[in-house]
Amino acid sequence: MIRFEKVSKKYRGTSKPALSDVEFDVQRGEFVFLVGASGSGKSSCLRLILREDTASDGRVVVLGRDVRGLSTRKVPYFRRHIGSVFQDFRLLPNKTVFQNVAFSLQVIGSSRAFIQQSVPEALALVGLAGKEKRLPHELSGGEQQRVAIARAIVNRPQILLADEPTGNLDPGTSIDIMQLLARINAGGTTVVMATHEAGFVDQMQRRVIELRGGVVVRDERHGGYGDTSGLPVLTPETVKGAAATAALTAVLELQKQIAHDSGAVEPLPEPIAPPAPQPETVLPAVPVVDDPPPVTEVQTDAGTRVAASEPDTGTRGIPIAPAEIDLGEIDGLGAADRLGLGRRDDDEVGPTA
Ligand code: ADP
Ligand code: MG
Repeated sequence: MIRFEKVSKKYRGTSKPALSDVEFDVQRGEFVFLVGASGSGKSSCLRLILREDTASDGRVVVLGRDVRGLSTRKVPYFRRHIGSVFQDFRLLPNKTVFQNVAFSLQVIGSSRAFIQQSVPEALALVGLAGKEKRLPHELSGGEQQRVAIARAIVNRPQILLADEPTGNLDPGTSIDIMQLLARINAGGTTVVMATHEAGFVDQMQRRVIELRGGVVVRDERHGGYGDTSGLPVLTPETVKGAAATAALTAVLELQKQIAHDSGAVEPLPEPIAPPAPQPETVLPAVPVVDDPPPVTEVQTDAGTRVAASEPDTGTRGIPIAPAEIDLGEIDGLGAADRLGLGRRDDDEVGPTA
């Protein structure tokens, strides 16, 4: 599903490569932690998978295709199969929770009917039902990350990339987010999560690929974080109070969830604390579209707008009418680029083979 073949990445103006001869192969449905100290190359790997950047050497194969060979025109369609979330959430500050999630469907030309059905489903999955009308600043950090996750999965991508998604969250909230990612993975979505948070990695006992100075030093099926000498040492506080209890309970809950996912134990009891929502719905992944219709850009007084050039068909067979999106307001957040809709030049994306 994701294969790195002797991948090296050297950024312009740097002497040391960010990645050197990196090799790994992620199977469909896997949950993989990409770990390593800051600067070890985790984000670089994720950017190569998303084709936000291209390798200096070697091959990156995602969903069966060498991403270098993707034409600029095809990159946005390729990215529809990959959801991504980041440490800083990247929500649109003036849009509601619903609108933030709907946005990723609007840019690909989904119909109003499809959006009205899919967005509430995605919000329910991440435990945000009832908060549709809130603005990002009216949410906690954990809730904001849930919105970002809902936005990343509402189009049912086959792969979910998470770059330090818990980096801005407190431990208890981080565990909630980890649980959510585990649940999304249980629905069949391949998840690759970059993190330097040893605790979750050790708890999850999933595959761990460790980078050190751009080199893979470990690839373990059921790994822990491994070498923690590069992590900052925190003075442990006395573990007391509601937050600590909630975090501990959540860890135990997560362990049970994982054991349950692997079919080892009896059905999962109701969580004690925190009251993490446990919706039943798990969205199936969408099959790859080999040659999707092109996106056209329309120049208007208000700025560049994009529209799917021909009606598409939704994942439930609902015909999708083209939707127009104003790119002006999202340019600053890089969302257009992330969705492959920005106005970048071909050579910035990299050469095509
Ligand atoms: P991580 O996500 O593990 O912290 P990164 O992939 O961000 O690591 O960075 C790996 C190395 O590449 C670091 O030395 C970093 O300084 C360098 N690097 C990352 N992005 C760029 C860039 N756009 N230009 C130059 N150097 C970069
Ligand atoms: Mg990084």
